[in-house]
Amino acid sequence: MTIAQIHQLFLTYSTVCTDTRKITKDCIFFALKGDNFNGNKYAAEALQKGATYVIVDEKEYATSDQFILVEDVLQTLQQLGKYHRKHCTAKVIGLTGSNGKTTTKELIKAVIQKKYKTIATVGNLNNHIGVPLTLLTIKEDTEIAIVEMGANHLKEIEFLSNLAEPDYGYITNFGKAHLEGFGSTEGVIQGKSELYHYLTTNQKHIFLNADDPIQEAKLGTYIKKIGFSTSNEQYYKVELLNADPFVTIKVKDFTITSNLVGAYNFTNCCAAILMGKYFNITLPDIKNAIESYVPENNRSQILEQNGHKIILDAYNANPTSMAAALDNFNGLKVARKIVFLGDMFELGNTAAEEHQEIADKVGKMNFTTSFLVGENFAKTESEAVKLSSFNDLKNYLKEHPIQPMSNLLIKGSRGMALERILGIL
Ligand code: ATP
Ligand code: MG
Repeated sequence: MTIAQIHQLFLTYSTVCTDTRKITKDCIFFALKGDNFNGNKYAAEALQKGATYVIVDEKEYATSDQFILVEDVLQTLQQLGKYHRKHCTAKVIGLTGSNGKTTTKELIKAVIQKKYKTIATVGNLNNHIGVPLTLLTIKEDTEIAIVEMGANHLKEIEFLSNLAEPDYGYITNFGKAHLEGFGSTEGVIQGKSELYHYLTTNQKHIFLNADDPIQEAKLGTYIKKIGFSTSNEQYYKVELLNADPFVTIKVKDFTITSNLVGAYNFTNCCAAILMGKYFNITLPDIKNAIESYVPENNRSQILEQNGHKIILDAYNANPTSMAAALDNFNGLKVARKIVFLGDMFELGNTAAEEHQEIADKVGKMNFTTSFLVGENFAKTESEAVKLSSFNDLKNYLKEHPIQPMSNLLIKGSRGMALERILGIL
């Protein structure tokens, strides 16, 4: 069967599934393979649970005409996503960067959907499977699709850009994330810039944070750029009024108070404001959209528990976002500040050095107590309380409970799941 024929089936049934635990009636099931599973084995079950067709790539599983045998299920899914995107009228905004993609995506969506029929990546489905799945959620009447693209090695954004064929793009930042796969910060810049390469080659528009010297340097002479800046008059003027604790922005005569903590969320908000302006959404609507957005999944949240004020940023961490979170917390004018930092993963052979840098940074700041948790942090030289695991932290806090009415920052990589601290305070 050709991709065009599979696409016809897709248009008839309109949903695709890749997980038999989440089958929806009349979907087309793609029997993907992973390191530890073979979707082909679940194809028959998918049909039993209500799928209309299943796409498989192992002949022995194709036992009736509801099984569509292809050479490679993943490639078929990707080609279908690309084919579908080519045949829809929606404008696509591609989004990548080291930090803040999902937050920025949600903010852009909140703004854009004030005026347009909008779809966006659900959650964090931003890889070689998530991007085609996102493209397949574009409907005939969708006007704007916001597609988050993630990468942990070179050529990945190039590949995803070729699938999504964005009309517009934005890179949140170039930071120290996934150094293991990219090799170095230069590797990260090169990798993320693959989106710029796609957009400039195809003469598409690029949104930029003109205060970011790397973005400015890369796009300085490109004509189809639309930027925001706090100081460069050539671009749309934005101002960070404060981030104490919520990021508050001034644009023209409007003050926009977000529900996001962390000064690093300023640029994330600005990207959404800029796109709103570009797509002719009124400033009152933009303000309302940003002010209504509340972060979830332990990203830059603020909460209160047992009298403590807690900045919960335990969704993930890398050297850039860790440093940004520390700077922000350090700048807050509150008493009794306590930080809990968990190991940063995926740093390859720079792990020791990067953890030491963060430990040094913490050492220079004036916190009441600092906890460094995890195998890497435990090996640093630091005056902080160092604990090799979450369990050790738990035991330590039993003996030395935190003083009531403290201000806490909690941040670490996903694998550390430091939100568990909330259960032991
Ligand atoms: P992932 O790689 O998991 O998809 P992401 O790029 O989508 O991550 P978010 O989930 O939006 O990023 O945010 C994760 C964390 O990154 C936030 O909780 C915050 O600590 C940090 N962060 C967000 N925006 C920025 C930014 N512009 N600069 C530095 N750090 C940021
Ligand atoms: Mg994300």
